[in-house]
Amino acid sequence: MKAMVMEEVGKPMVVKDWPQPECPADGAIVRVEASGICRSDWHLWQGDWGWIGFRPRLPTILGHEFAGVIEEVGKDVKTVKPGARVVVPLAQGCGTCGDCRTGHSNQCMSQGMTGYAQYGVLHHADFNFAPLPEKIDFVEASSMGCRYVTAFHAILDQGQVRSDESVVVYGCGGVGLSAVQIATALGARVIAVDLDDRKLELAKKVGASDVVNGKKTDPVKAVLDLTRGGADVSVDALGIAATCRNSILSLRKRGRHIQIGLTTQGEKGEVALPIDQVVFKELQIVGSLAIQSFRYPALLDMVERGRLAPRELITETIPLEKAFNVIQQMSSFENVGISVINQF
Ligand SMILES: [Zn+2]
Ligand SMILES: [Zn+2]
Repeated sequence: MKAMVMEEVGKPMVVKDWPQPECPADGAIVRVEASGICRSDWHLWQGDWGWIGFRPRLPTILGHEFAGVIEEVGKDVKTVKPGARVVVPLAQGCGTCGDCRTGHSNQCMSQGMTGYAQYGVLHHADFNFAPLPEKIDFVEASSMGCRYVTAFHAILDQGQVRSDESVVVYGCGGVGLSAVQIATALGARVIAVDLDDRKLELAKKVGASDVVNGKKTDPVKAVLDLTRGGADVSVDALGIAATCRNSILSLRKRGRHIQIGLTTQGEKGEVALPIDQVVFKELQIVGSLAIQSFRYPALLDMVERGRLAPRELITETIPLEKAFNVIQQMSSFENVGISVINQF
């Protein structure tokens, strides 16, 4: 099959012929129809996250945000049939460990994914099957492999955002814009912060009531002014020291900070925080990781009914050959919105 391969950290990825994955006995092979390019793959290409024990074996195929059609199922698979349209969840729980059995299968991610290729694997297929309604096309669905669902879990499940609350989102890349749209759909007042007016323009389009360019204004002061004392919920959708700290400093008393972004070489997993303020203001700091497979029907239903529209975040569709360009551009934050590969 055709695939984009990472041979070495920091070196250009190359499109080449690669062996097709074998179908696990309890898994399925998916013909990839659309595959989103997420910043997490930029992190892996940079060699990040060794500090949390994450080091892919090279050479490897990245790409963890895709949708397609079930091509083949393993002999132990009972409910999933070839021909079914699917979104492939980023977190594919085993279905049997303690995390999975207690409803936290997003904490169980042991396998790599290969979305920058013609075929990928859905592991533990009966447990992780997320059927895609006919009304939602593959390009729109692909973002629900990672970024859109990650924001959904952060805003609804971890953040418990309500309609009478204010939410500030730091970083308007794919996951940040998704958080803006989802929090807006819940009825919350959303303030988006970024350094790029083009991204803030898109944030406005998907629902932000206010936008703040952190290059031109002190974003913390702006948020405190706009909310008369601080937001109820803050989201760091990027994961650098500045956005993490600013996000926490933007909260009112008893506010909740949600950390979605993972750090870079600059932080190596460590960020200094205003911890006395966390005590005095009784702030909550909440992490959020991917989503459980069982949450897909609820999310897809909201998309089908038009309450959520991941499509609005997709700014370009490209052939596999152009995917590495997009990853490279992420070093300088050039990309606006979500790029999706739809030609293999
Ligand atoms: Zn991702
Ligand atoms: Zn498990």
